[in-house]
This record gives sequence, structure tokens and C-alpha cells, in this order.
Amino acid sequence: MRATIIHGAGDVRVEDVADPQLQQPTDAVVRVLRSCICGSDLWPYWSMPASEPGERIGHEFLGVVEETGSEVSGLQRGDVVVAPFVWADNTCDFCREGLQTSCRHGGMWGADGVDGGQGEAVRVPQAQGTLVNLGVGEDHALLPSLLTLSDVFPTGHHCAVTAGVNPRTTVTVIGDGAVGLSAVLAASRLGAERIILMGRHAERTDLGRQFGATDVVAERGEEGITKVRELTGGDGTHTVLECVGTRPALEMALGVARDGGVVSRVGAPQYDEAPLGFGVFFRNLTVTGGVAPARAYIDELLPDVLEGRIEPGRVFNRTVGLEQVPEGYRAMADREALKVLVQP
Ligand SMILES: [Zn+2]
Repeated sequence: MRATIIHGAGDVRVEDVADPQLQQPTDAVVRVLRSCICGSDLWPYWSMPASEPGERIGHEFLGVVEETGSEVSGLQRGDVVVAPFVWADNTCDFCREGLQTSCRHGGMWGADGVDGGQGEAVRVPQAQGTLVNLGVGEDHALLPSLLTLSDVFPTGHHCAVTAGVNPRTTVTVIGDGAVGLSAVLAASRLGAERIILMGRHAERTDLGRQFGATDVVAERGEEGITKVRELTGGDGTHTVLECVGTRPALEMALGVARDGGVVSRVGAPQYDEAPLGFGVFFRNLTVTGGVAPARAYIDELLPDVLEGRIEPGRVFNRTVGLEQVPEGYRAMADREALKVLVQP
């Protein structure tokens, strides 16, 4: 089959690889209907040292069950399923606590002999715990929104949940990428009435307004902090959803948080040291967030997507075929595309 392999910074190729086959009785093989490129795929695209034979890549996909191992129950050939961005047994103590990203028997796509999602098919370990049957057909109109349940929408939701967003909290969202816009949608879904979106790409912040943002602040740094404080009577907001992952974004998040408030980070941090000194201590700020256990949220979010109450798939503004995946990376890296959908 064909699958995407990253060989180093700026070097993504679609190549022939071995067809996936069942290896364990807990495996399934899934033919990919839709995949996509994640903002976090861009970090290796920008910085990975050259390597041969390269690494499989892609961790968001939705597809059709082709085959199941003898210990997989509840899934049939032909079921349309979504895979969270880590695989997990969904039965161990961490999974039962809703932390499938720490599963004792789980792992990552595209690593340790497991296929990546940006290919024609995937061997899915721990299939029964990992895959969620969507109960839709292969040509369902909502496939793009259903695909967001793999990562980007639950990540925005995790940010809002860990920050404690509710109808009484004011919210600032840092970042107008696909995760930031998903966080706006998630905060709105949780009832927040005041959502300030910090971003400076008008096309993206316009979608943010449609997702529920009430204010947009294009300024960054100290200027951005001042602007958000002006909008909130000088105080900042109760919750801040940091969806970028850089240190300047974190500094801005701490700057716009109201005393006693919560900053949640879901952007993969590109820094090792954080400014959590006396200033933050004296203001009683809480810093939380982390990698999103998408599997824990899919059951809750799925009905709102299936019944059309929310349409998180609107973050996709370009679709490519599998052979055009390298062009998709380029378009996302150059900020031409917000998020690229892959249709093998
Ligand atoms: Zn587990």
C-alpha cells in the first residue's frame, strides 16, 4: 500500500510500504477513508534531522474495519470507525480514570512498528479499546467533522474542560489555528458567554466568531495583554486556553488570566522552562492542561456532531489525495491552509 513517510525537515514522501496484517489477536486492520495533517506534524516537518529510511507519520484517521483479530469483539468488518490519536486498551486503571494517553498497554501511531494514519490502511493495536464505531456509512456527509474527534476537537475540549470553562466563566483563547478554533467551539458548547479569541489571521478569526468567539484581539505580547485587560475591566478572564505551545504564547496566557484564574495548555510545548515565579504565585493562578485523552471524550462529543449541533470539521479548508500529502504539509507550513484533509 501507499503511506506517508517523513525523512527529515521539509521532506515528506508517499511511498510503497508493506500492507498491514493482523499480528496480535487484539488487532484490527482499518482501511482509511479520511486522514489529516496536524499542527503537531509540522514540528518534525520544520526540525527533524534527516533520517533513512524515515518514519511513518499521521495520527488522525477514520476508516472502515476490514479485519479483526480473534480477541476483538464489538467491531465488524464494514464498520466505519474513528481512531483517537493514541491507541489504548481502554480497560487499565489509567484508561478507567479517563487518561487513555497514559494507558499501560497503549502507544503512538507511526512508532514501534505501528502504521501511521496518513496512508491507505492501518493495523490498529488494542482495536476494541481504541476504535469507536460511528454507525455511519462510508460516504456520510459529516466525515470531516467526525474525523476531528480523533484529535483536534477533543484537544480543544480538553483545554476547556481542564480550565473549568462553564457558563459563568469568561474565556480567552490564545491562537487561531485549528486547535484554538476548536477550543472556541468547545468553550461555547460548554456555555461560556464571553470568549475572547487572540489571533491575527482574519479568515481564521472569522470562523472563530462563527464558532462562538465574542471578541477578537489581533495584537500580541504586551499590547495583546493590555487589549484583553481593557475588554475585561482591567482584570483579564477567569480561564485562558493556550493553544499554541510557544513560550511567548504562555507568557501572554499568564498575562491575560484574572487573579485566581486558570491557564490550560494544550499546544505541544516548544519550551523547557516556564515563567512560574513569584508573580504567578502571588496571583493564585493555576496552570493545567496537557495531552488530550481524546478517547475519553468521544462518546460525549459524538452525538452533538452526528446531530449537527456543532460542525468542528469546518476547520478543514483544503482537501488533498494521498499522493498530494507533501503538498498539504507545505500548504500548512506556509499558512496557506488552516488544516488539510486527506482523502486516500
Ligand atoms: Zn489502558
